[in-house]
Amino acid sequence: MFSLPSGRSKSRLRKQVLLFGISVLLPALVLLFFTVRMNRQDKELRKQRAEEAKQLKAQEIGQHLADLLNKTKGTLLQEMDSNPNWIKTIYQSFPDLVYAGTIVEGDLKMSWDIIREEMSISQTDNSEKLILQAQQAEFSLNDLRLAKTLLNQALSTSIMPVQKSSIQLQLGRILFKSEDEEEALRIYGGILGQSMDLTDEYGIPFALFAADRLSLMSQEFNPILDRIEVLMERRQMLPSSALYLIRDITEQIQDRTQESKQLERIKILREAAVISLEDIKRIKSLEVLVGSWILRRNSSEHVGDSLTWEAHGDLPLIVGIHEKSEDQSPVLLAFDGPKILSTVIKEAGLAETFPGSCQMITNPNGGGIRPGGPFRGFWLLFDDMEVSDWSQSSLPFPIFYWLILFLVVGFTAFGGYLVWRDVSRELAIADMRSHFAASVSHELKTPLTAIRMFAEALTMGVHKRPEDQQEYLQTIISESERLTRLLNNVLDFSKIEQGTRTYRFEPTSLEETVRTAERALAFHLDQKGFKLQVELDEGIPPALADRDAIEQAVLNLLHNAMKYSGESRDILLKLRREGDTARIEVIDSGIGISDEDRSSIFGKFFRVTGIENQRIPGAGLGLTIVTHIAQSHGGRIEVDSRLGQGSTFSLVLPLEAK
Ligand code: ADP
Repeated sequence: MFSLPSGRSKSRLRKQVLLFGISVLLPALVLLFFTVRMNRQDKELRKQRAEEAKQLKAQEIGQHLADLLNKTKGTLLQEMDSNPNWIKTIYQSFPDLVYAGTIVEGDLKMSWDIIREEMSISQTDNSEKLILQAQQAEFSLNDLRLAKTLLNQALSTSIMPVQKSSIQLQLGRILFKSEDEEEALRIYGGILGQSMDLTDEYGIPFALFAADRLSLMSQEFNPILDRIEVLMERRQMLPSSALYLIRDITEQIQDRTQESKQLERIKILREAAVISLEDIKRIKSLEVLVGSWILRRNSSEHVGDSLTWEAHGDLPLIVGIHEKSEDQSPVLLAFDGPKILSTVIKEAGLAETFPGSCQMITNPNGGGIRPGGPFRGFWLLFDDMEVSDWSQSSLPFPIFYWLILFLVVGFTAFGGYLVWRDVSRELAIADMRSHFAASVSHELKTPLTAIRMFAEALTMGVHKRPEDQQEYLQTIISESERLTRLLNNVLDFSKIEQGTRTYRFEPTSLEETVRTAERALAFHLDQKGFKLQVELDEGIPPALADRDAIEQAVLNLLHNAMKYSGESRDILLKLRREGDTARIEVIDSGIGISDEDRSSIFGKFFRVTGIENQRIPGAGLGLTIVTHIAQSHGGRIEVDSRLGQGSTFSLVLPLEAK
């Protein structure tokens, strides 16, 4: 853009880069640094807060869980105290309860144990005898008819419902054996409908035995499935043998049916049976816990009512043991951990208060959090969610923040660039101005020295010959003209700078103006050995122009042609009409101008740098003034030049309008 002397320009450039760095880059970097740091800190803080939020949530969930468990415990104990049949109803009212029972002599009492106790009232009555005789007739004598009669007698004398069901079952078998299938079906159908409380001494309902027979004999499976479904509603009452039997029955039906609805029901029943078997296993495994509880009780003073809920098992059961007094059996309550957790979350309306889900784990290696409340052996694990789901950023709209930062930095950098560009331009102009002062002084000195030298020679009368004297005088005149032109340029330029340069427009013959300029320079050209060829179109109409200004412009161009002609001594001056415009061309075959410099030569004080140019005097004002003159006349200046081949400067002026 601007060429500067290289040594100085380097140090100036360094200064500018430093200035730019301090004023723009440094603050922007500091801003960036703080933003990044703030963001990082914010992230850390959010992580911390998310952890705290999780801790708090675990506390809250734990408290709710403890409340629910303790409340349920109260209700359950009351029910167990007041309702002798509690075992049959309790599981329906508390779906998350897996086990409620007493610890007798270190063992857990299962529901079927209780029922067995109820049933074991021995009956050595008449019907019992008849049953034995019937069995003898059936198995030893192989007399099915006798066996049937005996059983029918026993049935009519028996008063115990359980005994009756047992007799009916045997009767059914004998009927089946004696190929009275219809009657057998009827009997089994009757047993199938009987209450679930009627079980054998192992707690297996008679209805299930009937279902087993029917699943092999009957074609009607729906009543069997209906019944099993009802039985499964109280599945906690069924011992594992009953559950295995259910599995067998469903398998038998599965082999005999194609109906998709029935198959679907079977699938559900079997899944439920598997779960129940699992539950029984889980309950059995509690014996370890009971053992350690007893140890603790024996070693410490009192375990009593200060109840700690303890998790046990992989699929944890939440277990609480309650001991009312020394002489009453302790009560153990076990809830399904995951189920009761989700009940609590649902009932306390906690699901909405944290993101994702929450699980109960018995191994905290995966990052669990201890819940609030009196618990042992389990931890809560929240989903591995994004930190932002748990904790909001303290910076409002982080994206906007980044955007604003980006804009601020962007604008600062752009502003900085503009300042830098302006400053460098100013610096370059200042540099040129000082260069200009030196050039002008030098330019003034040369003609003044010549004038003085020739004037002194004349006064001293060294040369007596009139031709010589004449030549000296001409030189003095031409040098003073050069002085005048230089001063005119300087004055014009200062007027242009101040905006006070005025033109007097009047109809002007361009042909005459060009001729005047040619004449004014003729001696000078001649002296330096130049050959100026002039080609003027005739009949060009007068232009509205300032005659002196146009002449000055042409002279400036001609002077440049002479100065930058190098070895060449040919200059061509042309005046042509081009439609509504006139074109004055000054063509030389001199040193030419590089492509790079061509756009800059019209700038003020600009001088092409280079060894060749440095030797040629000049102030970098000539073309600036020509440009101003051309533009003030509504015209333009054009240049066409090739380095080493010469240049053509064209002053294009409008002929009609100003
Ligand atoms: P100067 O006083 O230096 O001649 P000008 O404004 O007239 O100032 O010219 C600016 C620069 O343009 C010159 O320094 C020169 O390098 C270049 N220049 C002008 N005219 C010519 C030309 N006819 N041939 C080659 N270079 C030229």
